[in-house]
Amino acid sequence: MRFWPEKNPLPKNRYQNIASFEPEFWKKKALSDLSPEEWELLCDGCGKCCLNKLERRGKICFTNARCRFLDPESCLCRIYEHRFEKVFDCRDINLKTVLTEPELLPCTCAYRLLAQGKDLPSWHPLITGRADSVHQAGMSLKGRPLISETEVKNYEDYIIDWPDL
Ligand code: SF4
Ligand code: SF4
Repeated sequence: MRFWPEKNPLPKNRYQNIASFEPEFWKKKALSDLSPEEWELLCDGCGKCCLNKLERRGKICFTNARCRFLDPESCLCRIYEHRFEKVFDCRDINLKTVLTEPELLPCTCAYRLLAQGKDLPSWHPLITGRADSVHQAGMSLKGRPLISETEVKNYEDYIIDWPDL
């Protein structure tokens, strides 16, 4: 999951300074040419990449078991700055991951969409200018039936087939 460092604005204010960025920069630049700040703004904050996954018969299956450190209300990581120290399989959503392991991301993920040559959806915060539009559109994990991974005995029991994964 991508998130923003603590020194950056509060999540709800992330898009306040969008006017200081080149308009529609995501249409004009390749993913590999984005600045770190532009890359971060592409993350819509859905939280769906923080769901546990299983590999079954060579296919990645999402479960509704969330990482124990994902806040289900805000859909943000509680330990972002230390995530790789605390969670051995937490993946950095960088260009290499997006290009080589897109199946780890939901089909709505902006990085995955752009890597496929598609545009951002109308609810994306870069389009609406509001960080909460991902929640209002029902595209984040907010309000969904989730279980913490700490309560899971058998991940097979929690495989889901949501259309936006
Ligand atoms: S799935 Fe993509 S857009 Fe959603 S939180 Fe993860 S990196 Fe961000
Ligand atoms: S530590 Fe967990 S909640 Fe945080 S980014 Fe990694 S998978 Fe997501």
